[in-house]
Amino acid sequence: MHQALEGKQALVAGGGRGIGAAIVERLASEGAKVTFTYASSQNAAEQLVKQVAAAGGRAHAVPVDSADRQQLRELVQDVASSGGLDIVVANAGGGVIKPLSELDDAAIDRMIDVNIRGTVDLVRFAIPQMRSGGRVVTIGSVSAHYMPDDGTSVYGMTKAAVASLVQGLARELGPRGITVNNVQPGPVDTDANPADGPAADWLRSLIPVGRFGTTDEVASLVAYLASDAASLINGTSIDIDGGYSS
Ligand code: NDP
Repeated sequence: MHQALEGKQALVAGGGRGIGAAIVERLASEGAKVTFTYASSQNAAEQLVKQVAAAGGRAHAVPVDSADRQQLRELVQDVASSGGLDIVVANAGGGVIKPLSELDDAAIDRMIDVNIRGTVDLVRFAIPQMRSGGRVVTIGSVSAHYMPDDGTSVYGMTKAAVASLVQGLARELGPRGITVNNVQPGPVDTDANPADGPAADWLRSLIPVGRFGTTDEVASLVAYLASDAASLINGTSIDIDGGYSS
């Protein structure tokens, strides 16, 4: 049976755990050959590679911190020279949720370095290598435009930057047949935001569907945006949040 992403080569930044791992599994299950990065979770990454192989897919894990510009540049070059590049997913990211007055230098720098600079670098290194029909998908957050709690200012700012990047890039890439879109999850059950964490009940009370999202739900949207069927969706940010930010 023909698979939607057969013959495509994908690169997922931050794929070892959480939303990124679900994206790796999903793209591989649809036939893409996937390379993904991790920063520190080597065991989880190796486990995922085995899981994908057991399901008949192809995934390869590489330790590259998205804040390391040179490593990222070399990785993109390596992937592109081993069969081209069709799908790029900038998922690596995270944040420290605290009021601005309580955020230390390291936390602020890390959010900017990974969420903004790491995304810009991944995308700019990848673009020249991408074929027509290519797909760039960034993982932003509804925090770019909806912040019901205090403590989200810097994290939200970094994700708003990603939304702007995508909007501007659409004009540059559209003529080459490449689309670029930003997926903005609301609360999704992962290590970073567990559905049984201290803020979970309060968050759930703000979500009209009454539950956190799953990593598979986000991965489904990413897989759709990565497919040929999504060729007219370009330069937009799509919320996937059960109505949380409505
Ligand atoms: P997790 O913390 O569960 O997983 C993050 C993944 O990204 C891990 O695989 C981690 O690798 C990787 N990663 C983080 N920083 C880097 C880095 N510098 N270089 C390479 N890989 C990195 O987070 P989530 O799955 O929850 O989040 C994934 C994305 O979704 C993030 O961009 C986040 O901001 C966004 N998001 C999440 C929401 C949620 O509620 N969960 C809501 C909205 C957006 P390693 O394990 O090796 O550190």
